Amino acid sequence: MRKTVFSPPAMVTIPVAGSDERFAVRRIFCAGKNYADHIREMGGEDTSRPPVIFAKPADALVSDGRDVPYPRASKDVHHEVELVLALGKPLRDASEEEASKAVYGIASGVDLTRRDLQTQAKKHGGPWTSAKAFDHSAPIGPITPLDGALEGLHGRICLRVNGDIRQDGDLAQMLWSPLRLLTYLSTLFDLKTGDLVFTGTPAGVGPLQIGDAVQAQVDGTEPLHFTMTATV
Ligand code: MN
Repeated sequence: MRKTVFSPPAMVTIPVAGSDERFAVRRIFCAGKNYADHIREMGGEDTSRPPVIFAKPADALVSDGRDVPYPRASKDVHHEVELVLALGKPLRDASEEEASKAVYGIASGVDLTRRDLQTQAKKHGGPWTSAKAFDHSAPIGPITPLDGALEGLHGRICLRVNGDIRQDGDLAQMLWSPLRLLTYLSTLFDLKTGDLVFTGTPAGVGPLQIGDAVQAQVDGTEPLHFTMTATV
């Protein structure tokens, strides 16, 4: 291999439930506005448009039960519990059948959002990068491998803060199903093995404080636990 001028960073990997092997992450794509009740709580009405697509860097992931430092540059960081799809095959202009066979596994994740910066960005028509793609913005639980192809998903998706339920929905409420979302994403990007897809959040998003213990769980996956600690 050619010498590099700096040591390359370590590959980002996350645990696989029931295995010593880890999942090597390539990129993180995210869908916003994929549950009608969340669109309404954010002041929107139009549920007919395709979900908003944005991305986070792979090294925004926080796994293995690590704490999440409260993000700097924000005073209003919100939780958004989401089903995460982990791709085991590439997809380009894929059919739903091809997409169903490309999902290696699923996980519980939280799309942490600097809501104050997102509100400013929306006002000025600017990008969501600083609101969404910051360091430690993507806590994730272990990936549960699927037995076979991904079928239509339903089941509870919920988030607790210090034991109190804040978000409680069902995967069947997604406006765009996981397979429709993958099909759409595969028309925009050459999806690759190792890519993760956060699929949107149900209603109940709200602020987190330093010291909060967060539990996020999507049916069929291992729960995700993390604590918000002081800003570093
Ligand atoms: Mn989200």
